[in-house]
Amino acid sequence: MLNDSFERTIDYLRISITDRCNLRCVYCMPEEGVPACSHDDILRYEEIERVVRAAAALGVSKLRITGGEPLVRLGVVDLVRALARIPGIDDIALTTNGMLLRRYAAPLAEAGLRRVNVSLDTLRPERFRAITRWGDLDTVLDGIDAAFAAGLEPVKTNTVVMRGQNDDEVVDLARKTLDTRWHVRFIEWMPVGAAARDWRARVVPAAEIRARIEAELGPLVPAKVNGAGPARIFKLPDAAGTLGFIGAVSEHFCASCNRLRLTADGKLRPCLLAADELDLRTPLRQGASQADIQALLREAIHAKPRGHHLAECAQVRDRAMAQIGG
Ligand code: SAM
Repeated sequence: MLNDSFERTIDYLRISITDRCNLRCVYCMPEEGVPACSHDDILRYEEIERVVRAAAALGVSKLRITGGEPLVRLGVVDLVRALARIPGIDDIALTTNGMLLRRYAAPLAEAGLRRVNVSLDTLRPERFRAITRWGDLDTVLDGIDAAFAAGLEPVKTNTVVMRGQNDDEVVDLARKTLDTRWHVRFIEWMPVGAAARDWRARVVPAAEIRARIEAELGPLVPAKVNGAGPARIFKLPDAAGTLGFIGAVSEHFCASCNRLRLTADGKLRPCLLAADELDLRTPLRQGASQADIQALLREAIHAKPRGHHLAECAQVRDRAMAQIGG
């Protein structure tokens, strides 16, 4: 078991397998994208496997494959197959924008993927196009159907709620759980990414999202779903799916944080929401042994902060912007 300095057990590794994405969600990336890492900078699958093998031997049992958009990297099915065979790994999940999910759901399930989270910020086709710039709602909905057909359950949807952009849809999204097995998760917008300077004016706190749903649809009841992580889970009485609320800033869950992040270019990040990182790629390419990799994993875990400072960072940025008249 891996414990950090605050007695949290770390058993979850979130692995970004690419920094590239086939969408340009307005809150995440500018339309021209961000400078991409060169091919050589990205960890090879064999290197990711070595890290996971070392982590699993220390007690990591859960993996999440993410990006960028993980399904744009060739060979992702083979990677999942290889990771699923590593002793100690008992849960592999994927976070995807769903654009390529119809094609990949069945082979991924066959390779050992357990479940998926699909980003879905709106149920309206035109708005979907406006938010994602390059996406197509029907393609993603087909992908969600394919995930159910492949048994990749629970299927969770992730909605980043932004005032004036899609907050008028929280009730419609909640209603989806009445007649589908969707587990709809509302994610409080975090002050990171392309639109962060508007954060204070447009963030909708998780408690407000929940209150708006209850005002329309009645009281929610506590519920459970596999792999709930930081979400607070409820459901509408008689609903097939659940509702999850993730308030990374207003209700932060750092005290129960159990994760480490591996970036596409081979950096270990002790906190998902802080910039500190530790280079794994160089040692991996200089022939690090499993014991060497484990020492670096322990170092990263030891460096895990008690909590993130997103709200304070946003305040500092606001002050700086005010000073420069931004
Ligand atoms: N491309 C994949 C996808 O769309 O799910 C995986 C990567 S994406 C960065 C992971 C998740 O982070 C998505 O659900 C996205 O909506 C969410 N996200 C991105 N920027 C965010 C922000 N500033 N605040 C909250 N969530 C954010």
